[in-house]
Amino acid sequence: MVTLGTATAAPGEMDTGRLEVGETRDGSPVGLPVAVVNGADDGKTLYLQAASDGDELNGVGVIQRTLPQIDPGALSGTILVCGIVNYHAFQIAEHRNPIDDTKMNRAYPGDESGTSSERIAAATYDAAISADLVVDLHQGSTSRMIEEVRVRCGSRHRLHTECLELAKVFGCGYILDQKGPDGQLARAAPDEGVPTIDPELGGCVGWDEESIQTGVDGVFNVLTHYGFLDGHSSLQPQARATGFEQYGSPVGGVVDFQVELGDRVSRGQTLFEVTDVFGGSKAEITADSKGVFWRSRRLPQVATGEYVCSVGTNLDTY
Ligand SMILES: [Zn+2]
Repeated sequence: MVTLGTATAAPGEMDTGRLEVGETRDGSPVGLPVAVVNGADDGKTLYLQAASDGDELNGVGVIQRTLPQIDPGALSGTILVCGIVNYHAFQIAEHRNPIDDTKMNRAYPGDESGTSSERIAAATYDAAISADLVVDLHQGSTSRMIEEVRVRCGSRHRLHTECLELAKVFGCGYILDQKGPDGQLARAAPDEGVPTIDPELGGCVGWDEESIQTGVDGVFNVLTHYGFLDGHSSLQPQARATGFEQYGSPVGGVVDFQVELGDRVSRGQTLFEVTDVFGGSKAEITADSKGVFWRSRRLPQVATGEYVCSVGTNLDTY
């Protein structure tokens, strides 16, 4: 039998349940929705989670569309799933957990007697490090972003190659290979010997069907490559960035982008213009380095110093 929370499945079966992590303010249990798929044959264990940031719903879409397509009788190994990690933020469609105003992906490995986010992190971390591979489904929040996979352990980590391989197998086309901040699952779990990636499935408000499909394809690529399912996934070369440059606005006004997401930009190329309310040009911002136009704000209006866009730099092919 394989168990996660109240979900328990014998070989060849699947079950769903709840992983309890404390109580809400009215005393009802907080139960993260979880699933276990116990393959008929032995194999590796994959841990999959979504909505670690409560407004990042594409990962929930990936899980919704993936699980019904998996026949436990045809599976070798086990899939553990937490469908919604940031329980409290998901309820109100916010990024951060409103109970402690914390970003979940800064709380790993968590603390079982800590804050709300630390407790959820600890509970899901236990499941994550019991696995052989971890896929933590994210997106660029509600801003606009290319589809990419992040490797966050850092290039000197002993599991760097394994994490990069997992990123290449998932196969979004782009990899951001850059050591992440403390508290990220994709940074913490490799310390326990578990290759972990953080696929970033575009960026949108609500669901984006194309990004969800990219995620579904990525999960099936992982399942076939690592022997959970029969079949063959051919590895494709990925454009890898190891640098990430962010641009803010030097003035207030309205942003007019001169490049599209995914465009290759050269050093000195205009990224965006800021105009005033009457259409007059106030500033033109150019790229400091060559790279890929990676992410941009969704709303056009900006104040001085406000985030506008990012360019992935130091590109190679992996
Ligand atoms: Zn996220």
